[in-house]
Amino acid sequence: MGDTIGIEDIGRMIRSAADIIRANRDELSKLDSAIGDGDHGTTIARAMTIAEKHIEESEKKELKGLLKDVGWAVMGVDGGATGPLLGSFLMGLSNGVSEENEIDCKTMAEMFEAGLAGVRRQSKAQVGDKTMMDALLPAIDAIRQTADAGKTIKEALQKAAEAAEKGAVSTKEFKARFGRARNLGDRTIGFQDPGATSMALIFQGFFEGLP
Ligand code: ADP
Ligand code: MG
Repeated sequence: MGDTIGIEDIGRMIRSAADIIRANRDELSKLDSAIGDGDHGTTIARAMTIAEKHIEESEKKELKGLLKDVGWAVMGVDGGATGPLLGSFLMGLSNGVSEENEIDCKTMAEMFEAGLAGVRRQSKAQVGDKTMMDALLPAIDAIRQTADAGKTIKEALQKAAEAAEKGAVSTKEFKARFGRARNLGDRTIGFQDPGATSMALIFQGFFEGLP
């Protein structure tokens, strides 16, 4: 078997992401207090815990159906923007895989691009609009570039985590154009976007979750 990941690895990636999110819950809510309503840490931690539980308790033995179920469960998390955004991302991932339960780096890139397409159905935000897209878009680009260069899955996720972190930090300079923070306009400049920060932590978790 070459460089591939299967259901167990993806379960580990999601668990690791959930761990990092829970460890940063208060910090994420603090960021949201500055430019939103202060709930992002609790909402994203709840969403990731649901994703993790769903994977652990699911009887499903096929990746596509599993991802769809996980996304669906997260979609239903109440508490504003996060449930639909993260849920449609996870659910979208399932559109990038077919019957296979072991995927290589190229298919993983397709899977993440399909996740992005899922989020795109919920949001038109671009890089520079101070949202989770500021972390997600560069992360997906990094995975695509690493996959096309014939690199390993681990390298692709490392590059994605680095790109997402850089994108999250860059949001400090931007003015919010979407979501609740938009109402504060110029007053959001100088603060890092909570959704971009949690998305960067999720990719860091995906990377660390792989052996
Ligand atoms: P809410 O704003 O409903 O309280 P959260 O606090 O959980 O939701 O999440 C806030 C984050 O959601 C923001 O920091 C931003 O990254 C993201 N977000 C909000 N609206 C949008 C949108 N339309 N497109 C992309 N991301 C968005
Ligand atoms: Mg909020």
